[in-house]
Formats: sequence, C-alpha cells, structure tokens
Amino acid sequence: MSKDQHAHNRLLKQRLADFMDEARHNERKLRRFQSLELKLIGLNSILELIEAILRPDPGAVNWDMVSLLLFDPEYELQRILQDEGVKLEGMPGLMFVAGMEEVEQLYSASLFPSLGGYRSSKHSKLFRHAGKKPASVALLPLVRYGRLIGSLNIGSHDADKFVRGVRTDFLEHFAAVVAICVENGVNLERLKRQGLTDTLTAINNRRFFDQRLKEETEAAGRSGKPLSCMLLDVDHFKRVNDTYGHQVGDLVLREVASIIRAQLRGSDVLSRYGGEEFSALLANTDTEEAEEVAERIRRCIEERVFNPPDYEPFNITISIGVSTLKAAPDTKLAKGVGDHLIGQADRVLYDAKAGGRNQVQCAPASCALGESLSPA
Ligand code: GH3
Ligand code: MG
Ligand code: MG
Repeated sequence: MSKDQHAHNRLLKQRLADFMDEARHNERKLRRFQSLELKLIGLNSILELIEAILRPDPGAVNWDMVSLLLFDPEYELQRILQDEGVKLEGMPGLMFVAGMEEVEQLYSASLFPSLGGYRSSKHSKLFRHAGKKPASVALLPLVRYGRLIGSLNIGSHDADKFVRGVRTDFLEHFAAVVAICVENGVNLERLKRQGLTDTLTAINNRRFFDQRLKEETEAAGRSGKPLSCMLLDVDHFKRVNDTYGHQVGDLVLREVASIIRAQLRGSDVLSRYGGEEFSALLANTDTEEAEEVAERIRRCIEERVFNPPDYEPFNITISIGVSTLKAAPDTKLAKGVGDHLIGQADRVLYDAKAGGRNQVQCAPASCALGESLSPA
C-alpha cells in the first residue's frame, strides 16, 4: 500500500471514529431528552409541570437558566395557579402575557427554535430572574394547532452552546411535548373546575360542598374550633319564575349568589346546594358570629331591588338556617357528623319558613352537636 493510501485510510478511520462518537453522543442526548419528556408527560398537575419545566433535572439537560412565557389572555391560568396556592412572585421564571404580539415578536420569521447569542434588547425580559445574563440562548416556540401558546426560553453561560444554524431536532421535539403537556394540563384544570362549579351562578356546586364538608368537619374536630353551617333558601322563588319568567329567575339567582359571596370571607365555602338553595361553611365561627353574618345577608337581599325590563321593580327575601359544630380539640368525630350539621341547619331553616320567612333561625345548643357524636 502506498504512503498516500495509508494516509487516506487513516483519515477515513478517523472520520468514522468521529461519526461514531457523534452518534453515541446524540444517542445519549436523545435518551436524556426522552427521559425528561416522559417525566413531563407523567405529571398530574399544571403546577408540577411548570415546576419540572423551570427546574429540569441537571442529569437530563445542562441548561443554566430556563424561563417559560405563556399566553394567558383571560388570566385564566394565573387564576388557576393562584387557586392552587401558588405565589406567582415566587416563580420569577414564569411569565404571562395577555397580548399575542409579545410572543410573536420573539419568532418574527418562523415558528422554529431561535438560537444564538444573547441580545438584551430582545431577551432581557426573558432572563431577568437569572442572576447572570446568559451568553447564548435558545427560544423554543410552544405551538398548538399552528398557533403560538407560549415560549420556552433556555439560556447558557457557554456562548457556543446555542448557535445559529445548528440542527434543532431534539429541541423542536421537546418544545412540541412541552406544548402538548401545557395544553393538557390547562384542559385538565378546566375540567376539574367545571365538575365542581355551578354553571349558572359560577359558585361551587353541591359536589364540591360535600367534599369540603368532610374536610372542614375533620379540621374542626382536630382544632376544637367551631364550624358553622348555613342553609339559605330564597322565599317564594316559584312566584318570581311565574311572574317574571325563568330568565329573570336565573338572573335573581346569580345576584343572590353574589350578594351572599360578598358577605362571606374568602375562606368560607359557598355553594349552590340545589335550585334556589345555597349552603355555606364558616370555619372558626361560632353561632353568634354566624347569626350576625346570616342577618347581614338577609338584610342585603331584602334591600336589593330587581328591575327587569318591562316589569315593575320588585324585591325578594331569603330564609336562613344556621347550625354549629363545636367539638373538644383532637376529637375524632363520628362519620355522619357533616350530614348531622346540614340536617340541623335544614331543620331550623324549616322553622324560619314556618315562622313567616325572611328570617334567620339558629339550631340551639350547638355544642351538643359535637358532644353527641364524639368521641367515636
Ligand atoms: P319557599 O319560600 O317555601 O322556599 O317557596 P319556593 O317557591 O321558593 O320553593 P319551591 O321549592 O316551591 O320552588 C322553588 C322553585 O325554584 C321551583 C323551581 O322551578 C325554581 N328553580 C330551581 N332551579 C332554578 C333555576 O336554575 N332557575 C330558575 N329560574 N328557577 C329555578
Ligand atoms: Mg324557596
Ligand atoms: Mg327550596
């Protein structure tokens, strides 16, 4: 073999070895991306998902900083997270925009990943939370059905990590998985909420109330703090429907729900118990305080004037039954204590109706309720 042929062979071998190295490197990278993607797909809530995206396992990817910008025009996602108890100030890598232009301007030319050096004019908002500015960035568009829903932004201190023109197959795939996971997560939260919300009044429904009744009675048994329950039933509501029609009836129910809500604390549980009947749970509230709140609600409803088009203005009234559970601390309450609490409120609500309506009645000797059913 000539000298030239030897040199040529060596070159070919070296090239093959380089290719093999690259293939092995890509395979390892692919596995790491796949494991991260599988983890995201397996998460159960939008909150877990966002946390996993913002803080990816360093064994899976070596990114120095990540931020997530989401299009949230009606503040729905922000409300969902706040309801889950998330303090958004504590998640600086998570950003929301109400206008689509703010996401679109990151991807002016195409909906493909945008890699390159950090430019403060374009990227400073995305990496404001990071102590040190990145040297290179990869912006991944999150797209569903051809529309941008957000942007996943990755920064590196290594200027050569994300450079223009390199292939972005893994990143594109990853962005597609993240987009689907985000969309799924939001849909799941919507479904959960719909299942527990009354569509007419937008307050909680009976199912939600029953769940919370169990939790609140258990908590009252542990803490020994009083728990009050109210049942509120609109008086002669059938007449409203008969006189003004079903649609005005619906409007009245919505208004009644919002009047009651306005008189309760944010932590009190209000629900539409059925038809023209509402229920409320007031934790850490004894009978006297609950009676005061109920009286305030009764008065506000009595004073509210309804003014439907084509009819004379009219008023309505409401009757309210109040019961209270008061157990000694660390009492394990009997199983039916929640039903008993509701039953007591229902009984005195009946008394309020029988007594002439438009009044509040409280179940007497509220302490006996806890004592009679505890300890188990
Ligand atoms: P009372 O003072 O004894 O409570 O009399 P009432 O007329 O309020 O009670 P009743 O139970 O006889 O009637 C309740 C009415 O509420 C009958 C039902 O058609 C009406 N209703 C229940 N749900 C809705 C609703 O979603 N929209 C409207 N418009 N009416 C409803
Ligand atoms: Mg009624
Ligand atoms: Mg009723």
